[in-house]
Amino acid sequence: MSESKATSKSAGIVYLVGAGPGDPGLMTLRGRECIEMADVILYDYLSNADLLKWAKPEAERIYVGKKAKDHTLPQGGINELLVQKAGEGKIVTRLKGGDPLVFGRGGEEAQELRAAGVRFEIVPGISSSIAGPAYAGIPVTHRAHNAQLTIFTGHEDPTKAESSIDYEQIAKAPGTKVMLMGVERLPIITEKLQEHGLDPETPVALVRWATTGNQETVTGTIATIAEVVEKAGFKAPAVCVIGGVVGLRDELNWFENRPLFGKRIVVTRTRTQIGGVSRMLRDLGADVLEIPTIRIGRSEGDDLRGFAEMVQGAHAYDWLIFTSPNGVDYFFEMFFKLFDDIRAIGGARIASIGPGTTAKLKEHGLAVDLEPQKSVAEGLAEAFEKEIGSLENLTMFWARAEGARDVLSQRLNDAGVMLDEGIAYRTVPETDDPTGAVARFKEEGADIITFTSSSTVDCFFEMGLELPEGIKIASIGPITSDTIRNHGLTVDIEAEEHNIPGLVAAVRKLAGA
Ligand code: SAH
Repeated sequence: MSESKATSKSAGIVYLVGAGPGDPGLMTLRGRECIEMADVILYDYLSNADLLKWAKPEAERIYVGKKAKDHTLPQGGINELLVQKAGEGKIVTRLKGGDPLVFGRGGEEAQELRAAGVRFEIVPGISSSIAGPAYAGIPVTHRAHNAQLTIFTGHEDPTKAESSIDYEQIAKAPGTKVMLMGVERLPIITEKLQEHGLDPETPVALVRWATTGNQETVTGTIATIAEVVEKAGFKAPAVCVIGGVVGLRDELNWFENRPLFGKRIVVTRTRTQIGGVSRMLRDLGADVLEIPTIRIGRSEGDDLRGFAEMVQGAHAYDWLIFTSPNGVDYFFEMFFKLFDDIRAIGGARIASIGPGTTAKLKEHGLAVDLEPQKSVAEGLAEAFEKEIGSLENLTMFWARAEGARDVLSQRLNDAGVMLDEGIAYRTVPETDDPTGAVARFKEEGADIITFTSSSTVDCFFEMGLELPEGIKIASIGPITSDTIRNHGLTVDIEAEEHNIPGLVAAVRKLAGA
């Protein structure tokens, strides 16, 4: 007993991980591994909750965030928690905004762990002090401007004696100065810097919620910036950059100039499919809220048994029909449970709806014999009639979703096809909100919401979510649009091409970008 306890204790470890400044793409590969491995994740206000989507579903997530004064859990409590969880033999990942050792108290946490005999590793992160300016188009060093960089905190530890920060030194230091924290103290800080001889004309920029879709930047000079910030109602968290390099922003402001910058857009798909849409929208500068409304699951019971039998006999059909990438995935999942050789699929011809489905088939080394131009069921029925002529007595197998529309079955049955419909998968409403996107949506609303299928629409409303006033709706195609209208809503735009790039193009149009 005591021996196994000792073993489990020594298995415990704390990873002090820099979560980067906000954009999940700026997380390090090692940091992501630490999230994937973790049994327990402690995260705070400045570490983007989106990162938690990489965690194991059963991982314990603990918010220990703090917003200036209202500490959720005091530092001492965080240290104790780290020691306690690691002591239970757990893999603990402590996410800290930016870099853990740059004004992040990571050093103190490491000392506590060391003193308690807990193993730890430090995973550096991209600090907001560098990335914030970069995303505002400001290089912190530039050969034409400076050869020195000073990073200081505008937040004085209240327990320290007054003026532990030597503003004279900072004012006299050549080159760029970057200040973290202290937005509220800007009037006194800029005054002190001028008192100690910093040129009042020195350019200054503040970048708020840097690298996220909420990023905002204001600029001025040491003499004016406090007033600019006051007037704009500009609040923490922000990085403050002081120096000639700020002028380069006019030329280099790449992030805020992107077409969808400043637009908050909701994407509703399954957790596994959502990434592609989000990436495209984020690349255009949007602030994307991922709300997976549906989850795809294997079919069950009689459905599953029936499907298995049909897959077993796949080689005997004249045609195999696939109408979604999920259908293809679940078909092959079953297929390779039953067979260990792709040739067992025989000589059946293959029909597909939509480029995504066709691409999935291609991944499995299969070419498509028939694909309608219009990516809808009616389009496929028409294509069959046009290309094949009489369908009388042809045998076909359709790997479909539970409860899918039966337009296709009706048309094919009417044409005399001997159609077997196999329930390959089903969609169920998603109930989890591990990243807090649903909570953020309820709190902050959004500019545009996108729907990629009828089931995402139905499930969205099943989740009890309401659309905030003024939000615009973008739909991927006519069927989805009908479902939206059935909920009593207006479709603001429908994609011309019924696929993800088509939907993204529609969103751009809707946003006037
Ligand atoms: N370890 C962090 C800094 C923690 S101190 C890092 O390396 O970035 C907290 C301060 O960091 C905030 O007050 C703000 O000044 C800055 N900060 C962190 N993330 C930020 C972000 N996304 N945008 C702007 N400022 C940020």
